[in-house]
Amino acid sequence: MKRRNRLLFIIKVFDGLPRTTTWVMVLIAVLVCNGCTALKEAQQRREQRILEERNASSLMLRPANPTIKIKEPDALYATSDHYTLTFAKDLYEHPELDSIEERETFARSALGYMESLYDAMNRLFGFQPKHKIHVTLHDLYQGTRLAATTTTNYRYGFQNGRYLKFVNGIKMDFPLAMYEKHGVRAHELTHAFTNIYFLPVWFSEGIAVLIQTEYAQGGTHPKFDSLKGTYLRVDLDGVNQLENWGGHLDGGPLTQWRYRYSYTLVSELRERYGNDFYIKVFELMEADALHQRLEGKMRTSFLVYYLSKAAGEDLVPFFQELQFKVRKLTKEDILKQIEEMNSQIRRQP
Ligand SMILES: [Zn+2]
Repeated sequence: MKRRNRLLFIIKVFDGLPRTTTWVMVLIAVLVCNGCTALKEAQQRREQRILEERNASSLMLRPANPTIKIKEPDALYATSDHYTLTFAKDLYEHPELDSIEERETFARSALGYMESLYDAMNRLFGFQPKHKIHVTLHDLYQGTRLAATTTTNYRYGFQNGRYLKFVNGIKMDFPLAMYEKHGVRAHELTHAFTNIYFLPVWFSEGIAVLIQTEYAQGGTHPKFDSLKGTYLRVDLDGVNQLENWGGHLDGGPLTQWRYRYSYTLVSELRERYGNDFYIKVFELMEADALHQRLEGKMRTSFLVYYLSKAAGEDLVPFFQELQFKVRKLTKEDILKQIEEMNSQIRRQP
């Protein structure tokens, strides 16, 4: 129950009570009222947040006009055109979501925002996943409020005589505290779109930071002025430090550099080859569906094959100059590489 409701309850029971009891009640009311300022501030913050989330222009996303359905009677689950939203059990008592009205308002705002992001991802990269993205919000997730996860569920099956993997759905789990940060939310949601391609880590992180920075005002990883000179970091073998990046969980002193450098690189290619460059890249990937035959992550040379095709020029020298260990591949090379990678993975115990 909220404080305001508790106060109303106290005032209601004044009538018909002995005088001493009334004074006790007045005292309690005064004590409760001391909390009124804090309550008011919390309400203002909440209203401001809802307003911000609804004001898509402040987030640089175009407003979407989705069909949102809230599950009655408790509003613990809601759906929109491309998402489902579930409140986990540990949020039922959360002070911001402990009433049906609050959950409904939150769900409408969150789904509206995520549909705007869906439109942006479609406009910028051509992404149009066929499956819904299932988002679950928690108070604590895996014992923390600091980690969100994206899980891609897929199955293997035959199509046109080929053994391919098919994505069944994307599941995302967020602690509420993380979801409420615009930049983090946009970053994590972007992974739901890119994960299905099994891209090199640096490339999917670069795309996520680009969206976070340029479309969600979450600029915690600013671009470098250049990709060369002192901005370039290599390992002991002289290979660009982006290549052996394990992703979010791979912490260490290079983490911040890796996010910034991958964003700078993804952004540089877009500036060079135009805003529809990545749309072409993903169209080419979709047409070949080679990523569906991968049982691991795509190698950078594999990606550079598609980047070069979309750019209309060989980008191997560009990547080699940045100390990536890449070589020019043909489609036959890629098919052979896939076979080798897959048989290696199958051999592992
Ligand atoms: Zn990421």
